[in-house]
Amino acid sequence: MTEEEKIEIMKVALKSWGSSAQAVKCFEEMGELIQAISKYYFSGKSSNHAKHRDNLIEEMADVCIMIDQLIMDIGAEEEFKDYVTKKFNKVRNKLIDRGFMERPYDPELDREIL
Ligand SMILES: [Mg+2]
Repeated sequence: MTEEEKIEIMKVALKSWGSSAQAVKCFEEMGELIQAISKYYFSGKSSNHAKHRDNLIEEMADVCIMIDQLIMDIGAEEEFKDYVTKKFNKVRNKLIDRGFMERPYDPELDREIL
């Protein structure tokens, strides 16, 4: 499936079911993801482990789809990408501060990146 097809599906979903209904659906999917995370990480290694893993992946996909729809609904595609970059930088800085990661080096600037 192409990105254009996914965008078209999200547009039709938002138009057909409405923003509020999709926000509620996002709540539902996030609840299902919380349960899936709990089962996978905190149920121990049972015979259901593969089933729990599969369910976790499915629920992560559901939440990603709903989040993408909400991003589209509020027209925040670029802002969202900027926040993701800022958040990754924040995590990287924490990892560097705690000695888990080296500060990246930019050879073009011939110095470490802050
Ligand atoms: Mg689901």
